Amino acid sequence: MGKNMTIQTEYHKLYPDLIKRMKLIVGEKGVLFDEGLENYARDEAPHSHNDLPEAVIFPRDTLEIAGILELANAELVPVTPRGAGTGLSGGAVPIYGGIVLSLEKMRRILEIDEENFCATAQAGAVLSKFCEEIDKHRLYYPLYPGEMSATIGGNVATNAGGMRAVKYGVTRNFVMGLKAVLPSGEIISTGGKYVKSSTGYDLTQLLTGSEGTLAIISEVTLRLINPPGSREILLIPFNSLSEAIRCVPIILKERILPVSIEFMEADILGLVKDYTGNEFPIPGYPAYLMLMIEVDNYDEFGSISERISEICLKNGAVDTYVPGSERAKRRLLETREKFYPTLQHRGMLDLADVVVPRSKIADFVEEVKQISRNYGIPVIAYGHAGDGNVHLHPLGPNIASASVIQDLQSEIYQAGIKMGGTISGEHGIGADKRKYMPLAVSPESIDLMKRVKKAFDPNNILNPGKVL
Ligand SMILES: Cc1cc2nc3c(=O)[nH]c(=O)nc-3n(C[C@H](O)[C@H](O)[C@H](O)COP(=O)(O)OP(=O)(O)OC[C@H]3O[C@@H](n4cnc5c(N)ncnc54)[C@H](O)[C@@H]3O)c2cc1C
Repeated sequence: MGKNMTIQTEYHKLYPDLIKRMKLIVGEKGVLFDEGLENYARDEAPHSHNDLPEAVIFPRDTLEIAGILELANAELVPVTPRGAGTGLSGGAVPIYGGIVLSLEKMRRILEIDEENFCATAQAGAVLSKFCEEIDKHRLYYPLYPGEMSATIGGNVATNAGGMRAVKYGVTRNFVMGLKAVLPSGEIISTGGKYVKSSTGYDLTQLLTGSEGTLAIISEVTLRLINPPGSREILLIPFNSLSEAIRCVPIILKERILPVSIEFMEADILGLVKDYTGNEFPIPGYPAYLMLMIEVDNYDEFGSISERISEICLKNGAVDTYVPGSERAKRRLLETREKFYPTLQHRGMLDLADVVVPRSKIADFVEEVKQISRNYGIPVIAYGHAGDGNVHLHPLGPNIASASVIQDLQSEIYQAGIKMGGTISGEHGIGADKRKYMPLAVSPESIDLMKRVKKAFDPNNILNPGKVL
């Protein structure tokens, strides 16, 4: 198999008898093929997708998924898996039509295993509900991948990250096992409720982050932990982003491990204020670090925050601020959560979630600003200083054509890659970043990925047009 391996993209349309056979599997109410299809034509990506599926299928369990995939594979009908559609890269958009396989009737939490610190849920379980249920058992899932209405299956399929990656890592660090259906209809179980395994290739990890291109995940077993103590926040203003970023490794080397370390600059805070009216505490500085720390009691926070403040003040910080009440804390977090809606409101032309080595964040943002000036298109940057993940949003309204925005994005990606980074830290490649993959991944590796894809999905029916 060589570099010119062709990928099948000629598909058949659904026809009445096929829809009838699908209804025999999922029931009359499990198929949508007329009104409401437009709700499945896009996700939350800023690109204006409007790709209607021919039908949406709502299986209720693994066996029903298997039945549908077997039929679709035999009939060469493309299938796009969909969780909650909160993805930011067009991954759940049916760009070749065919079927959207929606997991929204597979929301059950199947087991909460207190002895083994894990829980198993159907892949369509909504993250907020999952967290609520395990909380009743005094267990905890510590990741916070931004959007709590997303599904567990979507989180696994995109290897979602979020703010708390500094301390806890990303979704793949919590996936213990999966049940999944191959395009042929075969059902596989990977991993299990154990901590260690050296038993062949790790299919759990291969499926995690595969964005619905290899198999449909039907059940997920996630590792849980004991609930942490309270979460406290420290906001630290600086005169420049580079001073702020320089403090991050010093804090970590002092054996302080915050849950999250976010960076933000005056530009995004100004936009949020204009949009929401929320005044930021200690406004007027060019750059900030916002740290979240888990502690057992407030005395412990007192001593940790003192150490962090000392480090930062010695290294360029202008001040430190601790919100004095739960309300003030909430307002601060709300401001951070308003970044994305604010930018949506301002009309973002695209978005990128480049990841670079932590130490390179300030250089990278500086270079992006130069690129932004060259193009005359404002680009807002903010993100996860603790893990190097930088969110970038070119803003409109602008007369820039799609190809100009693509050139701008290419330059941004190249700058990140040159600094040792890559093009997506947590949102995935989906349909929208596929064209940039060759910038980050060598032809040999892309070819190997295509061969892996072919082994799982020889007819390329599963989420075609995504990732590769
Ligand atoms: C306001 C906002 C904030 C966000 N913040 C973050 C953040 O901080 N960090 C982060 O990582 N993401 C973030 N996201 C992105 C998004 O929430 C995540 O990508 C999430 O994991 C998507 O889950 P979903 O259920 O909505 O999946 P969808 O959007 O429905 O699908 C995403 C991809 O996964 C595939 N897929 C879905 N379910 C399955 C399945 N069962 N089997 C196989 N493939 C499947 C789809 O085909 C698609 O390729 C944010 C989104 C929004 C709108």
